[in-house]
Amino acid sequence: MFAILTVNGELVDAGESVESCHVDLNPEQAWPSHTCRSCGEGLTRETAGWVDSNGDSRCPGNDDADHDPEPTPLAWCNSAAILTDEDDDAVTVTLSVGDPRGAFAFTVRRVPDDAHGPAAGRLILHVPQPGDPYPHVALTEVHPGTYLLGSGPVGD
Ligand SMILES: [Zn+2]
Repeated sequence: MFAILTVNGELVDAGESVESCHVDLNPEQAWPSHTCRSCGEGLTRETAGWVDSNGDSRCPGNDDADHDPEPTPLAWCNSAAILTDEDDDAVTVTLSVGDPRGAFAFTVRRVPDDAHGPAAGRLILHVPQPGDPYPHVALTEVHPGTYLLGSGPVGD
């Protein structure tokens, strides 16, 4: 197999064969989960409220009122990867959003021509499902193909 790897549209020399491509979006949880809307500082939640890296809850960009936290875009994602497996005739895309040691895996695999059954010679798609024995994160179905991450009721 010959593959071409690009990053932001730019060709990257990855040798003759690309078997995996991994993007670490938040190594060692370096990004804060929240930032301040007023001053842009990264914030952490403590028992007394949201504080910046100095432990200060007062915002210099907001007349010394409290920092105004908002979720940091993409801070929920640890990593994403594409894995190819010629022996298994499969491509897997993984997304890690919970424990960084694991990930959701989405795989398309070609069933061998000589396999028994109607899938012989066809492509099949495997996706994470609610009730998987070892889920990366529990899934709650909203409707077929769409899931909330985490368990609990789905409200309107
Ligand atoms: Zn602030």
